[in-house]
Amino acid sequence: MTNIAEDIKIVLEFYQAMGVERIPIMTEQKSRRAEEQKIAEKEVSYNVAPISKFHLTSEQKKSALNALREEIGDCQRCKLSKGRKNIVFGEGSIDAEIMFIGEGPGEDEDIQGRPFVGKAGQLLTKLIEKMGFKREDVYIGNIVKCRPPFNRDPEEDEINACSPFIRKQAEIISPKVIVSLGRISTQTLIGLKIPIGKLRGKFYQFEDIPLMPTFHPSYLLRNPKDKWLVWEDAQKVLERLGK
Ligand code: SF4
Repeated sequence: MTNIAEDIKIVLEFYQAMGVERIPIMTEQKSRRAEEQKIAEKEVSYNVAPISKFHLTSEQKKSALNALREEIGDCQRCKLSKGRKNIVFGEGSIDAEIMFIGEGPGEDEDIQGRPFVGKAGQLLTKLIEKMGFKREDVYIGNIVKCRPPFNRDPEEDEINACSPFIRKQAEIISPKVIVSLGRISTQTLIGLKIPIGKLRGKFYQFEDIPLMPTFHPSYLLRNPKDKWLVWEDAQKVLERLGK
């Protein structure tokens, strides 16, 4: 008999002596369910929130955003500064009810210095309009403000250097809901390293602002069949806004 078999025999004899007739076995499926349960519990603790604690007037918001833009200046805080043409600060209404936060500028955005103006941006604009808003009614920004080379994902040091700015913008604008677009934006804002497919469709919280993760428009350009899922998420946002 091998050592393992002997060990099992000893354990079984022990349980028998304790009067235990059945030994529960944690199957892979059970273990996965336990993991999902843990995630669900964490979601609950992040879930739903009252509207933001920040109550700045429009004038105060405007000067706070101007001051933040000045603070960023000709930023060299991370290596993305090397290849950029423009810093893409973000744009939209300072009194926006919804703030959309993506990952980072692409080529068109880098050239124009404006967020979401390329093909993915056009899709985002369509979504905004389908939700009953004009693009200028909402606020749009990104986790990093300079274009990553060849549209690669922003790296951790770049996210750490730049994300305090978009966090500050969200605090100043204090929207009723944030919609995070894609994995990087969502994971950065809520601090959970879970795939976007599992995160989307449920409310989380950024500071005291409800946050709805959904797919990035670039993903939808590659996977148009998933557009209905984004529309499902958008409807939850509208419901939350009482629209
Ligand atoms: S990505 Fe952000 S931190 Fe990096 S250089 Fe641009 S503005 Fe500065």
